[in-house]
Amino acid sequence: MTGAILTARGLAKEFRGFRAVDGVDLDVAEGSVHALVGPNGAGKTTLFNLLTGFLPATEGTIALGGRDLTGRRPEQVARAGLARSFQITSLFPEQTVRRHLELALAGPTGLGWRFWRSDKALARFSDRADELLDQVGLLEFADRPAGTLAYGRKRALELALALSLDPKVLLLDEPTAGMGTEDVDRTVELVRRVREGRTVVMVEHNMSVVSSLADRVTVLQSGRVLVEGPYAEIRHDPRVISAYLGD
Ligand code: ADP
Repeated sequence: MTGAILTARGLAKEFRGFRAVDGVDLDVAEGSVHALVGPNGAGKTTLFNLLTGFLPATEGTIALGGRDLTGRRPEQVARAGLARSFQITSLFPEQTVRRHLELALAGPTGLGWRFWRSDKALARFSDRADELLDQVGLLEFADRPAGTLAYGRKRALELALALSLDPKVLLLDEPTAGMGTEDVDRTVELVRRVREGRTVVMVEHNMSVVSSLADRVTVLQSGRVLVEGPYAEIRHDPRVISAYLGD
């Protein structure tokens, strides 16, 4: 595909002989929001972990902007411009929201980004930290310990942490999972805002979120691509309907 920033060819992952991802080709157009959907067990999480280097592929290749990323480790993939949102479990409950961003912006040390740094060393990142917090609507919570944030706001913090890497491609793993309607709406607005100038790939179960945000959708089933296309086209596809009913 011309204009594809992220491509996978023949991507496969085998777990003791079981092919969780079974020969996936993926083309994500630059500047698009691309959703990965499919019933439970379809291989979405595994594909996500392959794309971000969290799992090594059994077969196939991955390229970002024409550069081969196959076999790279997660931090190399992130540095190349493909970042995923951090998991809540990686937040430090007693550290402030701003401090999380400052640490992420200060970048990895020999011991990783968790390594303690002096207030003085981190102070020069505070303006940029606040800009990012403003982008995700968390500026008013900058001085609060991260552990005191409500669930939806923790997820917004994860997003800000991913944005601190200024990625070309942002991967969001179920950005609205476990959220009530209000947080879902807020997250949709947030993704709309942060997608400007970026490409977004997201695994998302909520079809109304997919229809609001995604330019293209790849439907996976049993580790393979079942259908790929704009949401308006795939949603009436009988193969997609039966894949979901069979779930
Ligand atoms: P999805 O995210 O679409 O629900 P997953 O990628 O989590 O699907 O899982 C796809 C299939 O691979 C499932 O059948 C799951 O049980 C299996 N699987 C995922 N991870 C592992 C693993 N580490 N070891 C063995 N099987 C796994």
